[in-house]
Amino acid sequence: MPIAVDARPAPEQLAEAFRRVRAAGHADEPAVLVHDLDRLRAKLADVAAAFAGPRALHTVAIKANPLVGVLRVAVAAGAGLEAASIEEVHLALRAGCSPDRIVFDSPVKTEAELAEALRMGLRINADNFAEIERIAALHTPACASRIGLRINPELAEAAIALTSVGHRGSRFGVPLSQHSAIVEAFARHRFLTGLHVHIGSQGVTIPELVDGVARVWQLRRELVAVRPVPLDMFDLGGGLPAQYRDDAPRLTPTAYAAALRAAVPDLFRGDVQLVTEFGRSILADCGFVVSRVEVVKPGPVAGLHVGADLFVRRVYRPHEWHHDFLAIGRDGLPLAGDPVATTLAGPLCFGGDVLARDLPLPALAPGDHVLIRDTGAYTLSMWSRYCSRAIPAALGLDGDAVTVLRPRDTIADVVAFWGG
Ligand SMILES: *Cc1c(COP(=O)(O)O)cnc(C)c1O
Repeated sequence: MPIAVDARPAPEQLAEAFRRVRAAGHADEPAVLVHDLDRLRAKLADVAAAFAGPRALHTVAIKANPLVGVLRVAVAAGAGLEAASIEEVHLALRAGCSPDRIVFDSPVKTEAELAEALRMGLRINADNFAEIERIAALHTPACASRIGLRINPELAEAAIALTSVGHRGSRFGVPLSQHSAIVEAFARHRFLTGLHVHIGSQGVTIPELVDGVARVWQLRRELVAVRPVPLDMFDLGGGLPAQYRDDAPRLTPTAYAAALRAAVPDLFRGDVQLVTEFGRSILADCGFVVSRVEVVKPGPVAGLHVGADLFVRRVYRPHEWHHDFLAIGRDGLPLAGDPVATTLAGPLCFGGDVLARDLPLPALAPGDHVLIRDTGAYTLSMWSRYCSRAIPAALGLDGDAVTVLRPRDTIADVVAFWGG
């Protein structure tokens, strides 16, 4: 049966997937991070179909989920990878991505990292003028790297301030208002052949995304008019929000691409290579986490095996980072029963380690489970070592198989992490 990507996986589907994981020998894990690799393939195909173009390159943002087994599936499905650090570049290589399909986007690149990136022939988006000068000093005519400049379109700040990066005053990219300096840089450096824009992650709307692209496309028109070297690459970044609740709009790649086609039809003309860098919108609903309920204290407060270590943003800014929670019984079936206002607490030793307060859930008992939806992006990648608990096993659902993408940390792994 084809995988429906126009809605989140239903609770019954998630519970069924969890039963498969348990049946495959993982029933005794305190917590598991599950990744639906078949769904990932379907989500990637959906992006490719929405932005269909002769030369489009769709990359996946590694920082959303750096598990090499996940990246490998993306690469095998035809995606490139977007790296926020030189270390992520090496994760991309390990996943089998060819250098010309890796986009190196770190906002703070050292000279040595730039030299390595140029030597390998990565795609590079320069973040600022100083970086362009560093590249100019290292660049040779034989270099295969495609190089773009990140532009800040200077929109209004997006709804989630901490992940807004395309507003006036943001430190990311060269502000659009530095127009004459941008024109001068492109006139001087023939290796600059692309433009890059990325305005945020979650908390942005399709009109805001389109506005950012349209402003930078207008800049491209002006640059093309004054410069003989073609500007044949346009990287529109990521930032398409994921749907974390049933009553939130589902912003599909198809809807985003249609809005772009209407506002910036030339983007799809075929004389520029379109590059995308989606992370969250592709990966979030490809993953879920299940923790055993270890203890139930008066309240009731259910003590779980994941908390602020796995859900840093959720714990500190719960109003911005929502997750849905499902109560699952010992048998792996959704629990029924009258809702009780339940607090879900993490295992770390501080009062704030709470995933949800007074959440209406069927009464939980030790040995039951809590399933947390939409954890495929910015969850494991943001793991915090505070209290030094083992990172849970990361598993993949791949056809009929349940694969281990990363085994649960051993005690020795954790001791070694701290230099022991
Ligand atoms: C984080 C990031 C992305 C991915 O953002 P999503 O919200 O996950 O789509 C893409 N490009 C750049 C430059 C980023 O910093």
